[in-house]
Amino acid sequence: MALKIELARVYGFCPGVRRAVQMVEEHLVQEGPLATLGAIVHNAHVVEALERKGARVAGSVGEVEGPAVAITAHGAGQEVYQEIKSRGLKLVDTTCPIVKRAQEAARTFAQEGYTVLIYGEEAHPEVRGILSWTGGKGYATLQPADLPPRFPRKLAVISQTTKDRQAFWDFVRAVIARFHPTLEDLRVVDTTCPETGRRYQAALELASKVQAIFVVGSRNSANTRKLAETCRGTGVRTYFIESAEEIDPSWLSGLSRVGVTAGASTPDEVIDQVIRRLSQLGGDVA
Ligand code: SF4
Repeated sequence: MALKIELARVYGFCPGVRRAVQMVEEHLVQEGPLATLGAIVHNAHVVEALERKGARVAGSVGEVEGPAVAITAHGAGQEVYQEIKSRGLKLVDTTCPIVKRAQEAARTFAQEGYTVLIYGEEAHPEVRGILSWTGGKGYATLQPADLPPRFPRKLAVISQTTKDRQAFWDFVRAVIARFHPTLEDLRVVDTTCPETGRRYQAALELASKVQAIFVVGSRNSANTRKLAETCRGTGVRTYFIESAEEIDPSWLSGLSRVGVTAGASTPDEVIDQVIRRLSQLGGDVA
């Protein structure tokens, strides 16, 4: 039986990650080695390839030996910028423009006297960065119930960029329901990024058309893990793979249509290798 390979409508690198990797690569070619503050993208393949070209991963500015340092697409707190400046390091700022917008909203609202509430995970690097721009006037949570019972009267709500848009607005409604008796001024800026949602939506559409789906990406990538869970949730047979070598030919036995999708941190070449391997095993791209 001929095997058709169908690709998701949207998959792989989001524009913010693509831009960050390109900026680092350009710096490596034009100006030489640099350190990145954490992995530039949650994908071992990309990090190792960049390391071979001279991009070393550092845990903090203190670990950077110089002369240049890159902030990742997740962004960083204001103290990180200050430390980079005071150490005289050259900065390659790959903060995604959508994350930058959330940071700027946080800073502006805090300066205008609002308490800034971020719908997001407090421990996530992006959220820690946004919180820092509030200058101590921010909270991050996923549950309004976790907030102190007496909340400030002037409140601004924004979101971690990768959160689901509908979930963000449900959160805003829950915040209003909990605090409306004392709330005098509420500002809401939807800083969710459509890119992650577009990948989930495309994966759902694909899952409805195929008998098995390959989700390509690093196991340490939260967005790829969630993409795989989304596919599994539809009941379609889902294989979460990091590379083409993991594909067991027996998985394709009796199938006539398989799908391929990939997380926002998965590079094109890894996806291409998966498609090539499926083709070698008898598949044709639909
Ligand atoms: S998912 Fe969106 S916010 Fe995050 S890096 Fe990509 S484009 Fe930027």
